[in-house]
Amino acid sequence: MKVSVTFTADAIEKVEIVEHAETGGISDPAIETIPGAIVEYQSLGVDAVSGATLTSEAILNAVADCVTQAGGDVEALKAAPAGEKTVEGLQSTTVDVLVVGGGGAGLSAALSAAQNGASVILVEKLAALGGNTFRCGGAFNTYDPEGQASNPMTESLSTTVENLLAHEDVSEEHAALKADVQKQWDEYKTSGRTNLFDSPEWHALQTLDAGDYLGNVSQIRTLTTNTLDTLHWLTENGVNWSDEVSTVVGALWNRSHQTTPDASGAQIVAALENAARAANVQIFLDTKAESLVNSNGKVTGAVLTNANGESVTVTANKGVILATGGFAANVEMRTKYNEEGNKWENIDKLGTNNTPGATGDGITMGLGVDANLVGMGWIQLMPLNSVSGGGISGYVNSTAFVNQEGKRYVAEDGRRDVLAAGALAQTNQTFYGICDNKEATLRMAQAALDGQVAYGMISRGETLAELAGIIGVPADALEATIAEFNDLVKAGKPDEFGRTLWENTIEEGPFYAVAFTPCVHHTMGGLEINGSAQVLNTSGEVIEGLYAAGEVTGGIHGTNRVGGNAVPDALTFGKIAGATAAAAK
Ligand code: ADP
Repeated sequence: MKVSVTFTADAIEKVEIVEHAETGGISDPAIETIPGAIVEYQSLGVDAVSGATLTSEAILNAVADCVTQAGGDVEALKAAPAGEKTVEGLQSTTVDVLVVGGGGAGLSAALSAAQNGASVILVEKLAALGGNTFRCGGAFNTYDPEGQASNPMTESLSTTVENLLAHEDVSEEHAALKADVQKQWDEYKTSGRTNLFDSPEWHALQTLDAGDYLGNVSQIRTLTTNTLDTLHWLTENGVNWSDEVSTVVGALWNRSHQTTPDASGAQIVAALENAARAANVQIFLDTKAESLVNSNGKVTGAVLTNANGESVTVTANKGVILATGGFAANVEMRTKYNEEGNKWENIDKLGTNNTPGATGDGITMGLGVDANLVGMGWIQLMPLNSVSGGGISGYVNSTAFVNQEGKRYVAEDGRRDVLAAGALAQTNQTFYGICDNKEATLRMAQAALDGQVAYGMISRGETLAELAGIIGVPADALEATIAEFNDLVKAGKPDEFGRTLWENTIEEGPFYAVAFTPCVHHTMGGLEINGSAQVLNTSGEVIEGLYAAGEVTGGIHGTNRVGGNAVPDALTFGKIAGATAAAAK
């Protein structure tokens, strides 16, 4: 970050951010408020903006540096009072629906409840809306005959279908789902179609299989039969989608839709926020729900801490929707529950790419009213976690994953748990996503690529040998690996690791490498809900007045969430939760 500060003889007159490489959106609240606060209070003691702490500190450090250059007293400015917050905090009140959490699930629930006639308050404990939904790539998996019309079917993709149909029955529901897919597959084969086979049921079967048959089939079917409707609803509410339908990492099939002009969850959050505000949803930031109010087994509201630190109570006539996200940012919780499932080694030491708000509050509040928890031990690591914060795309179609020895070691189109375990076994727990100019410029503007190279966030070489030198990988090994990869693309058959998804070769220089290391990404477990997004208690009964959606819930994804299934899950069940709550008596 580059900052320019103008001083008079005894004051800070102006603070300007000249240039920065912070993540757009996440850093915005800090960039918008910290410079003004420094000038207003003539202080370097202003509070960091929650959710944008690193950006806040970067600004304060840069201004401190300028103060030193100007011969000022940094310590005195740090000690100067930085004023009281004068935010209008949420007061105790009554509303139809209270939504807790302002990520994708919460915004979707709030909008849906308001569109169904309810008065709605949404609270978000951080200084900005968005949660993990804002940070993610926004990939949205859905069956979409129109969008997938030009995606081809290949021999190796047919093998994938046949393999899942040949899986032994694990339950009656699984057998029924398989029978549905078998019928569609038989019809497809006799139809003479050459474009991609897909259906809500095939999406459901892949989701169930990828979670080792531990996901709830009925909940998965509710998800996959509603995703297309959710996609269209988002479009109506201002989200723009790219025409290309592809496969993001761990998505297993060409059904990932991405927003345009940027592939980013931030665009979904922005559209939903606008739509929610237009539908009269009242939004309160810096407002944290602490506990639920339980009146004779029915949830009738919540106790919250408002932006001024006061304790207030909101009574919700129709109910409370928990949309507080997962617990990846809560080291104690992830360490405890990891023992019940994945047993990832050193999970307490791994980083996370989650919002600091992902501390499992909804799960803790739910436990207070006897909510049932499911699948808590299943914690997803994100294999594609950039070491430098840079990156090109989350698509795996035309990318090879190569280790420090210059060799491929895994099927790039595989499940995220397999990719993560594979990566953790490599030297330095690091690997490189290698792609060529064709792929890189398809995914990202040239200026953005150049900028990232200049900041050392990604690496670029005119030839593979040059790139190998830059990332410290043996050049001959990298060249041989990519030559072999290109042969596999041309053959289009499953390879030794089981990769079946092939698109373009890696041939056109310059070549790019992005270094990745796994981090804690998604917590699959959480509150058990039914198809109407009502929370169930430990006896399997509905808890009146309590709804939940998104990452705070469990039971859909089984042991491993399919990449690109989280956003449709949060938004679809958010939409359902809002509608169910609004219809409550
Ligand atoms: P999802 O994808 O399920 O919507 P997100 O991570 O996108 O999950 O959003 C969850 C949001 O909920 C985050 O912005 C987080 O800060 C917020 N949140 C978590 N706990 C609370 C709480 N106790 N009160 C208010 N907001 C909360």
